[in-house]
Amino acid sequence: MKDLIIIGSGPAGWTAAIYAARADLHPLVFEGDQPGGQLTTTTEVENFPGFEHGIQGPDLMTVMKKQATRFGTEIVSQRVDALARNDDGTFSVTVKGEVHQARAVILATGATAKRIGLASEQALYGKGVSACATCDGFFFKGKEIIVVGGGDSAMEEADFLTRFASKVSIVHRRDAFRASKAMQDRVLQNPKIEVIWNTEVADILGVDVGRVTGVMLKSTVDGTTREMKIDGVFAAIGHTPNSDLVKGMLELDEKGYVQTIPGTSKTMIPGLFACGDLQDAHYRQAITAAGSGCMAALDAEKYLGGI
Ligand code: NAP
Repeated sequence: MKDLIIIGSGPAGWTAAIYAARADLHPLVFEGDQPGGQLTTTTEVENFPGFEHGIQGPDLMTVMKKQATRFGTEIVSQRVDALARNDDGTFSVTVKGEVHQARAVILATGATAKRIGLASEQALYGKGVSACATCDGFFFKGKEIIVVGGGDSAMEEADFLTRFASKVSIVHRRDAFRASKAMQDRVLQNPKIEVIWNTEVADILGVDVGRVTGVMLKSTVDGTTREMKIDGVFAAIGHTPNSDLVKGMLELDEKGYVQTIPGTSKTMIPGLFACGDLQDAHYRQAITAAGSGCMAALDAEKYLGGI
């Protein structure tokens, strides 16, 4: 029986692990399918305090993991298949058929990038369609691509992709971006970026030849369509919380985010805590995720100490 199991290894999970390990709770972290979480698919992080000149997302996650390890965190690079509450109030965490027991559990499973939802997107995934500029940008040297979305992610991806692509067009369904002003300015001043307003991607072309050759664009104003020749499509249209593990066990909001007791990381189940993007539909920053990971570890420590 462990004191504490932490599920997830983004900034929330690692911060919870650092605090819990330093409190002698000997946490066990299940890293999941994407160790390090979403920051491993981002590039320069300029707004995480403590890094005056910025830090690459994957590097930030590597140092957080090392910091957690330094204080005795046990790490398993596997995905949790099931979570259940036992009659005595402890928890069973099932991983590849093996059951691990803990007195408390911190959920830090984050969120996942959304897909546009086209059959052609699915068919051409990895063949010119991507949701990760950091992972795939390199393959688009000298090519023309589009980025779908109008939030900070779309701005960041578009800006990053101009390192490789000859031209990047941002396709946005409205006439104004949702992104922060600083990110918008960077994009609007980039001569390699064009913005196609009031437009959505109705189809991705090239399924017949097995690679993206273009897109069918549709005006959200008058419904007119036009074809655009393009080599790649990057979707940056938001995220879905990874809450499947606790569906039916915990209260979720309409988008699937875990609900916590305001001002705490406590869920409605004693001993079960949630932090990071899994329970935050609003701020969704690395630093807010890390802060909530700290809250979860402190809440778990108090719970385990019977305070
Ligand atoms: P977001 O803010 O939710 O923006 C999603 C964008 O995609 C919106 O512009 C939305 O359009 C559009 N969209 C959603 N569904 C669509 C669909 N089916 N088809 C076409 N367009 C669609 O998501 P995000 O950009 O991933 O950002 C999430 C959070 O992370 C934000 O809080 C953001 O500030 C933060 N973030 C910060 C940084 C940074 O500071 N370095 C970088 C990345 C993300 P509408 O505007 O019309 O709704």
